[in-house]
Amino acid sequence: MYPRQIQRLIQLFSGFPTVGQRTATRFVFYLLRAPRSEVKELIEAIAQVRNQIALCKLCFQPFDASEKTQELCIICNDNTRSKEILCVIEKESDLEALESIKEYKGLYFILGGPVDPLKKEQREILRMKELEERLKDSPIKEVIIATNPTVEGEATALYLERVFKDSGIKLTRLGRGLPIGGELEYADPETLKQSLENRR
Ligand SMILES: [Zn+2]
Repeated sequence: MYPRQIQRLIQLFSGFPTVGQRTATRFVFYLLRAPRSEVKELIEAIAQVRNQIALCKLCFQPFDASEKTQELCIICNDNTRSKEILCVIEKESDLEALESIKEYKGLYFILGGPVDPLKKEQREILRMKELEERLKDSPIKEVIIATNPTVEGEATALYLERVFKDSGIKLTRLGRGLPIGGELEYADPETLKQSLENRR
């Protein structure tokens, strides 16, 4: 079998999302063949991401905190955006997708999904406590539940609706039209724009 150093790295890569044992093994042998300079760059880049990127205290979006001492990302710091409307999304790339259509002027909350909230151990991955905290005594009047139109996204949305139905905050969902089983990040901008306008 492989030397233990190789086995260890295969095991670490196997823990990455969507990476199985075979792909992990390929990564390791790629690194063994790659120029030393490239491997060094990779090691540095990983260290920088962990050391210089902070998560926004309000929306959990990662931002460059290497030169700043602030605790909020650009969006949460932007006073021209409405503080009364909060869009709850599963992950960072969904935020990118919604920002790219330049239609939405409220704030965001990255839930940390997608997971199946019916499974207790998975439910704990979601930032539910943080979301409750965010909504408590806040100026937020509407929460747009913008989970992906997948089975897990749908389950997550229903779970959120149940948890916050008595909160006094208006809950809306993105309108129909997004391809079922797809993800916001792959939706075409026009469809995404319409589903945001037609939220209910
Ligand atoms: Zn933020």
